[in-house]
Amino acid sequence: MNPETRLFIGGELVAAASGASYPNINPATEEVMGEVADAGPEDMERAIAAARRAFDQTDWSSNHALRHKCLQQLQRGLLAVMADFKQQIAAETGAPLGICGGAGPQCEVPIGFVEYVLAQLQQYQWSRDVGVAEPLGIKSRRLVDKEAVGVVACITPWNVPLQINLAKCLPALAAGCTVVLKAAPDTPWSATMLGRVVKEYTDMPPGVFNVITAQDPAALGDQLTGDPRVDMISFTGSTAVGKHIMTRAAATVKKVFLELGGKSANIILDDADLSSSLLSSLGVCYHAGQGCAINTRLLVPRKRQAEVEELLKTYFGFIQYGDPSAEDQIMGPLVNSRQRERVLAYIEKGRQEGARLLLGGGIPQHLQRGYYVEPTVFVDVTNDMTIAREEIFGPVLSVIAHDGDDDAVRIANDSVYGLSGSVWSASEDRALAVARRIRTGTICVNGGNFYAADVPFGGYKQSGIGREMGPEGFEEYLETKTIAIGV
Ligand code: NAD
Repeated sequence: MNPETRLFIGGELVAAASGASYPNINPATEEVMGEVADAGPEDMERAIAAARRAFDQTDWSSNHALRHKCLQQLQRGLLAVMADFKQQIAAETGAPLGICGGAGPQCEVPIGFVEYVLAQLQQYQWSRDVGVAEPLGIKSRRLVDKEAVGVVACITPWNVPLQINLAKCLPALAAGCTVVLKAAPDTPWSATMLGRVVKEYTDMPPGVFNVITAQDPAALGDQLTGDPRVDMISFTGSTAVGKHIMTRAAATVKKVFLELGGKSANIILDDADLSSSLLSSLGVCYHAGQGCAINTRLLVPRKRQAEVEELLKTYFGFIQYGDPSAEDQIMGPLVNSRQRERVLAYIEKGRQEGARLLLGGGIPQHLQRGYYVEPTVFVDVTNDMTIAREEIFGPVLSVIAHDGDDDAVRIANDSVYGLSGSVWSASEDRALAVARRIRTGTICVNGGNFYAADVPFGGYKQSGIGREMGPEGFEEYLETKTIAIGV
């Protein structure tokens, strides 16, 4: 797999100053695959200082041609190591190889984001002339310039590590920011490898891009998010940590960009074709349900519940899992034993609160190794139950009955989250009308899909602040400066 095990600080691949490292564990086999540097406060200090220096003392933020050249070099490097990346991502996330390549979100597609970001960098209107006016009686020509925010702390989770690392770092770098990337402890190689690619393939000035991995994220995370030299925090992860980060950022009024959790609703209206629409509910098994935008609540017409149950039993029987090298599987294990315990505790809670277990609910008998949980379906769920309210991040579907379009909208919106969702109907107009009433950052109608570099992604309510990807995702990393020239 040829992983990179070192930190990347100030343009150098280095061991942790203390010499410490920690094991990287394959969740499908529970085996140690190798080591990675376990950074300490002195490493984080050097990374922040390097990023600050690179922003203040090099022309990175103002030299568009340099950035364009370096991002092209980065693209070449990413393509050159793509096969290694794919193996490493599969091994450290547990996602079967089948969803680590091709059209899946783990590897090739996010590497393709570079192309979009390069176009943004070239086409973006960095300055606009608003013209002459006489505000307060003073004749002035007004310009509005866009410039880099500064030093950005990118903090990322483990479920789609390369995609989220790139969705943050690429636009940040293209905008002229410098970056400290703090990877998730469970998926360090997806970040350290980026350090190696930058080092070996690009002319990025030292300190523009830095990578930190650490086994215990809290202390180093707090150091990074509280440091006054950091101008912005770009975070993807749980809503709980997102809230904590907002409080850390408040002391120095940093810009915060948050991509957080979800509890999205897949709404089947009463005229929808059940056989095709219910296939989409298998999405809860994709990467074992470890996706923020997965639709984990299935809202079905009350009068069609019996049909729904029969179809779900058939469809969930299609899900094969257990061989991480499989190219035709969508489900692997959960990322670690802690996450499996968490998911099993939610399943127990569902039982206790009166939901009826239709399928699954435990550890699969046929898998003695790996952090697997069976694909699990609860029916007779009400929207006030814990399994309908909290993000489980496992292969667990909650089926909730609705009594028509208004009721479905009410249930879907009765959530602290607002990340994604889906609507199915025989009438596109009817589905679209319902979709427009859902308070959520993305929504699919009759099986459409929004995931692409040119389309913004993000959440309403406690699912986040800001947007990743698309033009909006680029502008997150820009400041606005208004200049008035007396004429
Ligand atoms: P997490 O919140 O536990 O961790 C996310 C990152 O924050 C990790 O790098 C972690 O090390 C770091 N972190 C933890 N404590 C910190 C602190 N005190 N200061 C700074 N950083 C700290 O999330 P996770 O378990 O890695 O990922 C799962 C969560 O991520 C789910 O809630 C999921 O919905 C969310 N997620 C959201 C999106 C999205 O785009 N909205 C995408 C993927 C995952």
